[in-house]
Amino acid sequence: MKKSIKFLLAAALISFIFVSCKKSADAPAPVPEQDNAKKVLSYILNMGFPAHMIVENTNEYIVEEDIIFPKNMKVPVGFDSKVKPEQFYTGSLVGATNVTNIRLMVDTSMTVMLPEINSAINQWNTVSGCTIHWSIVTSGAYDVLITNFNLGNGVCGQGTFPSGGVAGNLIRINRNFIAANSFAQRARTICHEMGHNVSFRHTNWQAIGEPTATPVPGVPGTDASSIMNGGQCGSGATVLSTNDKAAAAALYH
Ligand SMILES: [Zn+2]
Repeated sequence: MKKSIKFLLAAALISFIFVSCKKSADAPAPVPEQDNAKKVLSYILNMGFPAHMIVENTNEYIVEEDIIFPKNMKVPVGFDSKVKPEQFYTGSLVGATNVTNIRLMVDTSMTVMLPEINSAINQWNTVSGCTIHWSIVTSGAYDVLITNFNLGNGVCGQGTFPSGGVAGNLIRINRNFIAANSFAQRARTICHEMGHNVSFRHTNWQAIGEPTATPVPGVPGTDASSIMNGGQCGSGATVLSTNDKAAAAALYH
């Protein structure tokens, strides 16, 4: 009798352990990184960028050479049902509070370019009627990292579109490649990439064969003076144009 009670207890204990194990095995599995990457890829395709414009790296997709889509980015909910669509943007903005305090961490590889960075920041921060405000942080939390990165010959920099209401989190500058450019042109590259990180598309998307961009309400058309024209590194506008400013104020006010 005693023996069989012991046996029952042992059996109960074993089944308890078994149930416990099973329970933990039933816990929701973390979403594999690969699933989000697939989602990001269909998000890019859905924006209208054809597959041949998309380069896949280990942790990101690069589109049109100068726009980074991290594979772990937050893809906007319902992006695939949105109707695709003058200054132009992605349709996904930085949140009203976040945009007033975009903390830019300057990687040590970029401290030699602090004057250019400050010049670019000053351009965005002084647009009348616009809430965009960048500031440099040297430690702690930040929103955007700006870092030197060898992008080879021909690409001056890369920016990242916003997602989930926060600014794109990375700007890469091809420091050596733009070193021979004038100060104003080096600052332009930084100012241009910062524009991508707050959602601006290339103003000249049509001329350079990019997919349809969402027009900024009230600021239509092409603009030869736009700092957001693409493919003009070293030769493009060095200050935000009247329409660039109008577009920034229209999106963030
Ligand atoms: Zn660009």
